[in-house]
Amino acid sequence: MVSCLANACLPLGLRFGIPHRFLMLLKNSRYAGIEGYVGRTPLLRLRRLSELTRCEILGKAEFMNPGGSVKDRAALGIIEDAEERGLLNPGATIVEGTAGNTGIGLTIIGQAKGYRTVIVIPETQSVEKITLLRTLGAEVITVPEKPYSDPANYNRQAQRMAEENGWFWANQFDNVANQLAHFKTTGPEIWEQTAGEVTGFVASVGTGGTLGGTSMFLKQQNPKIKTVCADPYGAAMYSWFKNGDLNTKDGDSFAEGIGQMRVTENLKGIEIDDAYRITDQLALSIIYQLLREEGIFVGLSSGINLAGALQLATEGGPGQVIVTLLCDSGIRYMSRIFNSEWLLAHGLDPNLPIS
Ligand code: PMP
Repeated sequence: MVSCLANACLPLGLRFGIPHRFLMLLKNSRYAGIEGYVGRTPLLRLRRLSELTRCEILGKAEFMNPGGSVKDRAALGIIEDAEERGLLNPGATIVEGTAGNTGIGLTIIGQAKGYRTVIVIPETQSVEKITLLRTLGAEVITVPEKPYSDPANYNRQAQRMAEENGWFWANQFDNVANQLAHFKTTGPEIWEQTAGEVTGFVASVGTGGTLGGTSMFLKQQNPKIKTVCADPYGAAMYSWFKNGDLNTKDGDSFAEGIGQMRVTENLKGIEIDDAYRITDQLALSIIYQLLREEGIFVGLSSGINLAGALQLATEGGPGQVIVTLLCDSGIRYMSRIFNSEWLLAHGLDPNLPIS
């Protein structure tokens, strides 16, 4: 019994008699686990929108990341930055306020690297994301949705928990390691995949990391590339980029993960050429058409992005090469935007053609 316990305490290699030389080889292996496969997503040609506009409308397939969303990039960037700063030691706890996708990314990358996660999520988010987080092994705390100004806001609760327990707060909204991840990966990938032919980039805003970091990189390569924010109703980014104020009280949206009301650190100082206001109905019509005619299954924020790309294509005319993001899979929203009863109850029609 004693020797068995002692054996269990030995490093894995010694316990199973694996030679040290082989272990060193494994450590320096040219193969990697999931943390080595975040990003480098395919750039898909979206045939119907491209034909309609006589532009190339291209979508980065972010739903193909290991955690199933664009937020894996931010999660990995934030974790690696914290490791470099000595803020994350083995076995540490990462806490974050998130609409779900960042939590999923932090949880799986955390597991691959030996950290545990505590996720504070508004109870308004889809049941799929909340259940998935629990299944993945995160400790999930659901809280009522409150504005940032309220101390009960999910993100501010996460900050408080970090301070009280000595945990690491990922702070995706104001930690610019998020923006940097897109500057270092999303931007260069788009530049390379289009062989520098990209003329426009469109993104919606949650934290602003995607729009901020990617647009910053693309503008550095070619200042003529048009960078555009696609904003859902009820969010303040449209008004911020158009008029420089945050006075937006014009409706609401069911798109999850986007809809920002303040200028986060990830948005400060970025150069954006235009902003569009997008209806949920148009975004919905686009993602249903994408599924039915091209076999691409994505959530509503991707539809907001694609509606923005469509508007940029229409305004600028044929010949443009416009890139946007397919942020996550429709699987995360089966109980809502891919549920006909839910759609009916919320006045949305999946069969309405793109107008
Ligand atoms: N779409 C989805 C589904 C998201 O979860 C998020 C991030 N919350 C975004 C878009 C926006 O990304 P970012 O935080 O980089 O602005």
